[in-house]
Amino acid sequence: MTDKVTRTDEEWRQQLTTEQYLITRKKATERPFSGKYYKSKEKGVYKCIACGNELFSSETKYDSGTGWPSFWSPASEQNVAKESDTSHGMIRTEVTCSRCGAHLGHVFEDGPPPTGLRYCINSAALDFSASEGEKANDRAKVERKG
Ligand code: FE
Repeated sequence: MTDKVTRTDEEWRQQLTTEQYLITRKKATERPFSGKYYKSKEKGVYKCIACGNELFSSETKYDSGTGWPSFWSPASEQNVAKESDTSHGMIRTEVTCSRCGAHLGHVFEDGPPPTGLRYCINSAALDFSASEGEKANDRAKVERKG
């Protein structure tokens, strides 16, 4: 996706919940072990909560023990942007959505193979969409129970 999404601050404020707005537009960080996706192992894609850009796949998700959803790679290098972030007395690399500029989290170099990277992402910046196969499995489970 190369088409940029641009909205005013007020438009983002209206579209997003307060938590989503503070994280994606004001670079806040959710408390660890508080978000809805850090434990998730479901198969599917994680999209940008603000613009729907496909950011991460469950295929590269792993449990980093940090309390934030962690991935060793983005779904596509083109869909995320990286910038140096020197706030809070640290030198970190910020990760943003390349389509709408949403703050997602940071990337660190202490991840697992094959990349050695850890994309540490706020759940509130993501919108999970289960893969079709997984949905079919869920329906089958419900049918078996019934
Ligand atoms: Fe986005």
